Amino acid sequence: MSHEVLVIGSGPAGLSAAINARTRGRSVLVVSNPPEENPLWPAGRVDNYPGLPGVSGRELLTVMRRQAEEAGAEFFAGRALNALRISGTWYIGAGPRMLAAKAVVLAGGVVRGRKFPGEEEFLGRGVSYCATCDGMLYRGRPVAVLGYSDSARREADFLREIGCSVTYLHRPRTCVIQGRETVESVTCDGETIEVAGVFLLRPSMAPADLVPGLAVEDGYVTVDRRMATNLPGLFAAGDCTGGPLQVAKAVGEGLIAGQSAAAYVRQES
Ligand SMILES: Cc1cc2nc3c(=O)[nH]c(=O)nc-3n(C[C@H](O)[C@H](O)[C@H](O)COP(=O)(O)OP(=O)(O)OC[C@H]3O[C@@H](n4cnc5c(N)ncnc54)[C@H](O)[C@@H]3O)c2cc1C
Repeated sequence: MSHEVLVIGSGPAGLSAAINARTRGRSVLVVSNPPEENPLWPAGRVDNYPGLPGVSGRELLTVMRRQAEEAGAEFFAGRALNALRISGTWYIGAGPRMLAAKAVVLAGGVVRGRKFPGEEEFLGRGVSYCATCDGMLYRGRPVAVLGYSDSARREADFLREIGCSVTYLHRPRTCVIQGRETVESVTCDGETIEVAGVFLLRPSMAPADLVPGLAVEDGYVTVDRRMATNLPGLFAAGDCTGGPLQVAKAVGEGLIAGQSAAAYVRQES
C-alpha cells in the first residue's frame, strides 16, 4: 500500500496534518490506534480550544476525524512499529503490514511510562512489541502479554488461537524481564512467571525507537519551523515535539507539518 503522505497518529495533530496535506492534493494514509485509545477521548470538557467551548474530547476527535475522512484521507487501524527510509521512500511496519510513503508526519503524542529493566536487552530475543508479527515464533510455548490498551486483549486472544500459552497481565506497574541468551521469566508486581516471550503492548512508542537516527531532546522530537526533523521527508507535530501539551498547539503544528509534507512530495516528484 503506497501513499504520498503517511501520518502516524490520529489525535488532533495527525488529523490536522491529514486534512492539510489533502487540501494540497496529496494522497494521505493515517495509521493509528482506535480513537477510544486516544488520551483526549475520556476528557469531559476541553475549554481552551477556540470556537468550541466545553466540547468533550470524544466529540472533538470524532468531528476532526470525520473532517479528515471527508477531505479524502484514508485510515489504517494499527500500531506503527518502525519506520525506515530506503532509496527515497519511507517504509512503515504496522503489525504484519508494510506501508510506504514519500513523506511521513509523526504525530503519536507523548509516550507515558518508562521502559522496564530487561526490555531493551531482550528486544528480539524474547521481547516483542507485536503479537501478530512475532506470535508464530512462540507457538506451543508460554508467553506473557503486558497489556496497556484495549486492543492488547485482542492480540492476547490471537496468541491463544495460534497455540501459545498466554498469561495476560493488565497494566502491570513494575516488571523486570530476566533471562540469559533469551527471555526465561518476567516478574511483574512481585509475581514471577516462567515464559519464553514477553509481548509489551503499549499504545505508543518512543519516537527514537520508532525511527532509528531521529534527533530528540529530552524525549521530544527536534523540529524546525517547518516541523521538519533531521531526516529527509520526515515531519513531526503535536505533543511529540514538546510543550505546551495542548490541542490548539497540536492542531497548529499539524497544519504546518501537513503542508510541509505536501511541499516535500511536490519537490521530490
Ligand atoms: C485527560 C486529559 C485532558 C486534557 N484536556 C485538555 C484540554 O482541556 N485542553 C487542551 O488543550 N489539551 C488537553 N489535553 C491535552 C491534549 O489531549 C493533547 O495536547 C493533544 O491530544 C495532543 O494531540 P496529539 O495529536 O499531538 O497527540 P494525541 O492526541 O496523544 O494523539 C496521538 C495518537 O497517536 C496514537 N499513536 C501513538 N503512537 C502510535 C503508533 N506507533 N502507531 C499508531 N498510533 C500511534 C496514540 O494512540 C494517539 O491516539 C488533555 C489531555 C488529557 C490526557
